[in-house]
Amino acid sequence: MALIVQKYGGTSVGSPERIKAVAERVKRWKEKGNDVVVVVSAMSGETNRLTALMDEVNANGSNRERDVVLATGEQVTIGLLSMALAAVDCPAISYTGGQVKILTDNAYSKARIQEIDDKPIKKDLQAGKVVIVAGFQGVDEQGNITTLGRGGSDTTAVALAVALKADECQIYTDVDGVYTTDPRVVPEASHIPSLALEEMLEMASQGSKVLQIRAVEFAYKYDMPIRVLSSFDDDDNAKSTLVTREEDIMEKVMVRGIAFNRDEAQLTISGVPDKPGVAIKILEPISDANIEVDMIVQNIGSDKTTDFTFTVHRNDYQQAKQILEGVSESLNARECSGDDRIAKVSIVGVGMRSHAGVASKMFKALADEGINIRMISTSEIKVSVVIDEKYLELATRTLHEVFDMASGTSAT
Ligand code: ADP
Ligand code: ASP
Ligand code: MG
Repeated sequence: MALIVQKYGGTSVGSPERIKAVAERVKRWKEKGNDVVVVVSAMSGETNRLTALMDEVNANGSNRERDVVLATGEQVTIGLLSMALAAVDCPAISYTGGQVKILTDNAYSKARIQEIDDKPIKKDLQAGKVVIVAGFQGVDEQGNITTLGRGGSDTTAVALAVALKADECQIYTDVDGVYTTDPRVVPEASHIPSLALEEMLEMASQGSKVLQIRAVEFAYKYDMPIRVLSSFDDDDNAKSTLVTREEDIMEKVMVRGIAFNRDEAQLTISGVPDKPGVAIKILEPISDANIEVDMIVQNIGSDKTTDFTFTVHRNDYQQAKQILEGVSESLNARECSGDDRIAKVSIVGVGMRSHAGVASKMFKALADEGINIRMISTSEIKVSVVIDEKYLELATRTLHEVFDMASGTSAT
């Protein structure tokens, strides 16, 4: 007998029919003798609807109240799924994040899970019930409702799997696994049967939204394998992707996947003094405003001055630009500029560790298409470039072709 945590995303619970289909699947797993804990997202579109509603009432509402509203989406689906299970004679009980309880810090809208009380869940499982937990939400120490950031139900599922020492964490979604890149952008993308948690971590952090980054961080930290599958295929042995430890991956390819992100913006301050302490003078006020910086590039100085460029989330662009204009004055900089129509494309693969030349192959492919690279950053298993947003699809398709990914494995 195994303990399985299953997570169903928005489209998987997007209608009464889909919820009934989930109930049938959960019942099948239960009847095979497993203990089953289910995490659900809000019905597809619901979180966006709630966000729009709040923006209409008060776009500057407090983050605490925003989380109170956002968390309602998942409360609906846990109740509905529990009722759907009752209708097929499968005993179940639903819990909100606060009821479980999933304790988080108090960073509204991007709270981090700190602790999960596994005792009530274990008790219900022992009593033969399926336990349904609302994804994406928790409570802080004062009992305030918090949410975990968009896509956060993945993190609820992995964190529960870790807390309960589950045998498997299954993420059911609208694709039958992780592909070499987003199949909505490159229809020829190939299915990946298994990949390393490190690779998924880079892909998620570079923009592949199939799994929330924090979910992969949890899985990586606690060595919890994740299986990504489609809830639209009724065959329980259908194709899926196992995201697991690197040692367990048979085939190590050079480029496993291509991730992209259009949520960033670039800021440049030029002609700043080339002397110690300047980087901190530029970045401190940005971090004081709680704005996260992603890539940073500083040129080698000439004429005792240098240029400093960095990227932030597009939502933070205006605020960051304003801060930078203030800094620019105090540093006597020549110019302060920015662009919020940029995108980042990354190639990822553990095989890069042992292969030279992958970056130059990437740069040549982009050059051949006339795509200008604005910034570059690398890690052991990743190369990222910032380009004009208008070239994003072209760059992704080109790299997918150049690294021969449509055929299943990458070129060496
Ligand atoms: P859910 O609502 O189930 O959480 P998401 O929309 O968050 O589903 O994630 C699934 C989507 O992720 C897919 O429909 C797909 O468009 C997108 N996606 C992005 N990158 C990839 C990738 N490399 N492989 C598979 N899907 C991807
Ligand atoms: N409902 C939330 C969202 O749309 C959380 C999730 O689906 O994982 O982002
Ligand atoms: Mg998701």
